[in-house]
Amino acid sequence: MDLVIRNATLPDGRQHMDIAVQDGRIAAVGARLQVTGAREIDAAGDLLTPPFVDAHFHMDATLSYGLPRVNASGTLLEGIALWGELKPDLTQQALVARALQYCDWAAARGLLAIRTHVDICDDRLLAVEALLDVKRQVAPYIDMQLVAFPQDGILRSPGAMDNLKRAIGMGVDVVGGIPHFERTMAQGAESIRLLCEFAAGRGLMVDMHCDESDDPLSRHIETLAYETQRLGLQGRVTGSHLTSMHSMDNYYVSKLLPLIAESGVAAIANPLINITLQGRHDTYPKRRGMTRVPELMAAGVDVAFGHDCVMDPWYGLGSGDMLEVAHMGLHVAQMTGQAAMHACFLAVTATPARILGLEGYGLAPGCHADFVLLDAGSTVEAIRLRAARRAVVRRGVVISEAPRAAAQLNLPGRPARVDFRLGR
Ligand SMILES: [Zn+2]
Repeated sequence: MDLVIRNATLPDGRQHMDIAVQDGRIAAVGARLQVTGAREIDAAGDLLTPPFVDAHFHMDATLSYGLPRVNASGTLLEGIALWGELKPDLTQQALVARALQYCDWAAARGLLAIRTHVDICDDRLLAVEALLDVKRQVAPYIDMQLVAFPQDGILRSPGAMDNLKRAIGMGVDVVGGIPHFERTMAQGAESIRLLCEFAAGRGLMVDMHCDESDDPLSRHIETLAYETQRLGLQGRVTGSHLTSMHSMDNYYVSKLLPLIAESGVAAIANPLINITLQGRHDTYPKRRGMTRVPELMAAGVDVAFGHDCVMDPWYGLGSGDMLEVAHMGLHVAQMTGQAAMHACFLAVTATPARILGLEGYGLAPGCHADFVLLDAGSTVEAIRLRAARRAVVRRGVVISEAPRAAAQLNLPGRPARVDFRLGR
């Protein structure tokens, strides 16, 4: 075997498991496998998980924080205005360099699949060209999916629909949208119809920024679910953000949740961003603004947590750590039960992998030998510690290694080494 990992704990709780890898795929999973590997790694009971997956990101804006100035109000609308100021000065070279730097961070964090939106409202489609280039360059270690995203509105921004079609023609994978940014609720609904019809005609997936507002009457998710069903797009459509659901009337939501589940539309919450951007017009009490994550999950909807932004006009923090994303999502959604915390781990691994339609994802024989060995004994402990990535493996090759998190203590009467895991 090319690689054998010994004595790992798996996300489903199985312990003392070995995983054998041959030719980039998982050859066998079981206790005490009678095989030898050209390289063997002793997991020592640590958690081995398939890679982290970020289902919602903006790679064209990442690491541009402070260009040309910082977002003084910290609001979504100033962020969009700032991005508009930055766009004319973007160069393809700088954009590629920033995206590649982010992908280095991602790989080191075990984040090996990213769906990124790319703004297509600039007629030059410079960001599209840049990110297609980045996608090719990082393909050996990161699966990147691009979404044609009309930041300024597909109807509101002249030429946006033509640009979107050109972007798809150039190789962009997914159809995006932003109905709540169109001029009226009716135009928003019209944009959803047009974009879903286009996607259905081309056999493409859809992922829209949908209802990213505090408006309790924003109803675009209802339209998205309806169009998905009408056009037979079940299982291929995602509503990103859905923050208005936080503010909606409970009776209406009791009707809406089954409609979303029935249409097979997936949901992506972006907790780091939405806890900072939403509720900005409130005094006190301030709404949290994140969509209704546990209720969507209970209704049978696939819900993932996305990173959305890292050091860009909308968010000045972040480092590509999906455990930080899960940690924030858990807190904002108050998902503190054991099963709920485990669900938050799945929301940055298996669930977004399903939303992206990743082939060969998982820890079963035959899957790609892609995984992350975490300095933690369980999924919940991984979130609690934002655990160090002891090893990141892509197609059977270790692409990143890091030491365990531990400190040398100098306290009289206490042990010399402190370990942040329980029972170690
Ligand atoms: Zn976004």
